[in-house]
Amino acid sequence: MSLIVHKYGGTSMGSTERISNVAKRVAKWARAGHQMVVVPSAMSGETNRLLGLAKELAPSSLTDAYYRELDMLAATGEQASSALLAIALQAQGLESVSYAGWQVPIRTNSAYTKARIESIDDQRVRADLAEGKVVIVTGFQGLDDLGNITTLGRGGSDTSAVAVAAAMKADECLIYTDVDGVYTTDPRVVPEARRLQTVSFEEMLEMASMGSKVLQIRSVEFAGKYKVKLRVLSSFTPWDIDIVEEAKSGTLITFEEDENMEQAIVSGIAFTRDETKISVLGVPDKPGVAYQILGAVADANVEVDMIIQNISKDGKTDFSFTVNHGDYAKTMDLLKNTVVPKLGAQEVVGDTKICKVSIVGIGMRSHVGVASTMFRVLSEEGINIQMISTSEIKTSVVIDEKYMELAVKALHKAFGLDQAPVR
Ligand code: ADP
Ligand code: ASP
Ligand code: MG
Repeated sequence: MSLIVHKYGGTSMGSTERISNVAKRVAKWARAGHQMVVVPSAMSGETNRLLGLAKELAPSSLTDAYYRELDMLAATGEQASSALLAIALQAQGLESVSYAGWQVPIRTNSAYTKARIESIDDQRVRADLAEGKVVIVTGFQGLDDLGNITTLGRGGSDTSAVAVAAAMKADECLIYTDVDGVYTTDPRVVPEARRLQTVSFEEMLEMASMGSKVLQIRSVEFAGKYKVKLRVLSSFTPWDIDIVEEAKSGTLITFEEDENMEQAIVSGIAFTRDETKISVLGVPDKPGVAYQILGAVADANVEVDMIIQNISKDGKTDFSFTVNHGDYAKTMDLLKNTVVPKLGAQEVVGDTKICKVSIVGIGMRSHVGVASTMFRVLSEEGINIQMISTSEIKTSVVIDEKYMELAVKALHKAFGLDQAPVR
């Protein structure tokens, strides 16, 4: 008997009809003799709807007290869908029970709206499984040390599922979503994108961290740390397809390079509009400036991504970096009110109309000139590059958001991703 974790995303849980289909699929797996833990997201649109209500009431609130209530509010989406799924499973004749994050409990730190899972107590879930129940664990939420409800950041149900699979040493974690696997790029933007049968853990990690929202980055980190067998597949196949065929479908995240792996130099293209650029202008160019700016930002629990410092002129320099959209107002506030006056800088300006486009591939390690091909393709399209960052297996650029689709399509074609790689 295997222990299997299924995760169903918002679209897959989007209506009572779909929830009923999920229940039928899960029942098929349970009846095949597997112990089943299921982690659902909120019904599609629900998290946005709830957060939108909060914004209507307090459009510019940035306090910790406000973020606490956002989590209290957003967590209800998953609580509702979990109970509905348990009811749908009971209607299929199975015993099923659902638990909110605090009931398991799934313990997190207190970083509201982007909390990190610290531990999961699996006793209660194991006891139910032993009694033959299908256990539903709410995605996206947890509990901090003081008993406050927290959420794990947008797309966080993926992380809940993989963390539960890791804590319970599940045999496999299947992420059911509205596409049938991981593609060379988002198939909704580039119809020629190809599904990958396997993708290496390292590439998946870069793709997710560069904005491919098919998996939340922390879910990939958990899978890597605890070697969780992870597969992304479609929830829109007929629920009664052959279980053996279903178990082989989609995309498997692999931890070892095997000779059957597709050996492209660039395996995928990720992009995101979720970042904003902040520039502190006219900063006195002296030691400690980067620390004074970025240290203050880090203390406010804001993650910084790309960083660039210009050559100084007349003892002054400009310092730019990118942060997530969600942290933009808070970071601007902090810089304007404390850091800029303290540093004696001229001003701080923000640009929300940027995007980041990245090429990812482990083949980049052993090939030179990949980044320069990227820059050539962008220049041929007349696209100006504002920032660049590289790692061994990726190159990212920040460009004007209006060129995002053009850039992704041109790069996808230039790196031959629309065609199966030659072995
Ligand atoms: P869920 O609600 O199931 O968690 P998400 O919307 O979070 O689903 O993630 C699935 C979506 O990710 C797809 O609909 C697709 O548009 C997008 N996506 C982005 N990049 C990729 C990629 N490389 N491969 C597949 N899907 C991708
Ligand atoms: N419901 C949450 C969101 O919309 C979590 C998730 O779907 O994974 O971000
Ligand atoms: Mg998701």
